[in-house]
Amino acid sequence: MRKLHVRAAGLVAAAVLGLGLAAVPDAAAEAGPFPVLALPFKAGQQVYSAGIHSDDGSTGVKNALDLSPADKTVRAPLAGTVHLQHCAGGDWVAIDHAGGWRTGYYHMEGIKVTDGEQVEAGDVLGSTGNALPCGGSSTGAHVHFTLWTLPDEPAANWSGLAYSQLSTTVAVAHGEPIDGKTLGGWLFTAGADQYTGTATHLADRMVTQLPGHFRAKL
Ligand SMILES: [Zn+2]
Repeated sequence: MRKLHVRAAGLVAAAVLGLGLAAVPDAAAEAGPFPVLALPFKAGQQVYSAGIHSDDGSTGVKNALDLSPADKTVRAPLAGTVHLQHCAGGDWVAIDHAGGWRTGYYHMEGIKVTDGEQVEAGDVLGSTGNALPCGGSSTGAHVHFTLWTLPDEPAANWSGLAYSQLSTTVAVAHGEPIDGKTLGGWLFTAGADQYTGTATHLADRMVTQLPGHFRAKL
């Protein structure tokens, strides 16, 4: 499906270019502007972040950020629709937001939301953990937060996909860089290496090197 869709979009783009109308956006294939997101936990507490990395931690777009808030509670950073992704080892949570944006929450334990549930910003999704529902690895309780766009495939079902597929094939097709994105008033900037970068509190320009701890004030 994805390949067919891409090919069709390419033909449309080629036709548009041929007509000299390159500035006309292909609304069906582009996500909306990056929305205003909170951090995926309650502000005002200490958090440890292992830094910005690609979904598999080695290659590809750096669409992931590991977070360990002190209260161990993961919350929706923005309203959306929950799409639970199932594997033999359990579930992980994806939330689809307006504008074709999806956020992902991997390694969570004690998932509190159900498939199809509408959540508001701040609603509890579950706890940080070491769950490996579809594979992968974890060396300490955290949430592996991921960013995706899928305007062509709203509510895409990635259930049953091994983490090795999610972090490569799916990440190539849909992963969006954390670099340059602002969550809860913190601007995240990727470093050259995996699991590095900075978090800059925009209100006072305080810069935290990642990996590292910072206090997620508002
Ligand atoms: Zn991670």
